[in-house]
Amino acid sequence: MRVTTAFNKLLRLPGASVVGVTFGAEGVVVAVRLRRRRSRCSGCGRKAPIHDRSTRRWRHLDLGAQRCLLEGEIRRVRCPECGVKVEEVPFARPGVRHTRDFEDLTAFLAQQASKTVIARLLRIDWATVGRIVERVVEGHLDETRLAGLVMIGVDEVSWRKRHRYLTCVADHIDGGVVWVAEGRSAATLQGFFEELGGDAATIQAVSIDMSAGYEKAVREAIPHAQIAFDPFHVSFVIDVFSRKVVGWQLATNMRTDLVLDALRMARGLRSPGADVALVHHSDRSSMDHPESHGLRGTRDGPFRMRTRIAIYPPCPSKALRASPDQRASPC
Ligand SMILES: [Zn+2]
Repeated sequence: MRVTTAFNKLLRLPGASVVGVTFGAEGVVVAVRLRRRRSRCSGCGRKAPIHDRSTRRWRHLDLGAQRCLLEGEIRRVRCPECGVKVEEVPFARPGVRHTRDFEDLTAFLAQQASKTVIARLLRIDWATVGRIVERVVEGHLDETRLAGLVMIGVDEVSWRKRHRYLTCVADHIDGGVVWVAEGRSAATLQGFFEELGGDAATIQAVSIDMSAGYEKAVREAIPHAQIAFDPFHVSFVIDVFSRKVVGWQLATNMRTDLVLDALRMARGLRSPGADVALVHHSDRSSMDHPESHGLRGTRDGPFRMRTRIAIYPPCPSKALRASPDQRASPC
């Protein structure tokens, strides 16, 4: 089998054929020829006359331990609508030096790993990861997602260390998140209603927590809508050995006391004689931070850690970062 035939079968590039393969210091360079008769503008998709030609490279998915680069002639067109634009390429987004497959892989990984991990794994710049994710998300966003909303829910989620928040708006009908912005104030949610414009008239009901900011924004923007308050926050403590819930508490606000009450209940049930240790794994919630439990002495912010172990009697003063060896012998 010829090398070009093998690479055509291997890469299966849409709208392009492999015409040559070379192995060099930068990796495998695959020469490709676009299968097109008329050039089309990458801005609007219209057919347009050729302006000039040049050679371009696109980074593709790695082949084994080698980088794979596609190289081919690309033309710029004179579009009556968009001006001079690069032509449409089936295997890459307009004006981008990575193939769609490479960008889709990057965006998929970004759902699971940090930018630093992805940058090292794929051997690309840290900032490039962010730009690729933005492009892929933009391409997949449903432009009609804000039209015809009837029942929506507004809530906040914390991100990064310290108290940084995102306001998320969900469509209660299909369950999808339709809008996200940084912050959790009335002004943040006002931004959503401004983007919605006249489409806000279709909203009949909004569920929010007891945040005064959210309520103010909703009453000003859509006074006709019903507001359903979600007044409760719940904290559970689960015994990971028996998998039973050993402490719980309900409250109308997210204060430290909510977690403390649940922990007091768990301690009462699990270490009544104070001579049995309770190992507590908390999540990244700010309220679950060991300092919230009166366990001082840690310099890490609440969101830097993934898991912490706090030891209740007989070692109440320690707050240890979780690691395999510490888990084996916490004291
Ligand atoms: Zn155009």
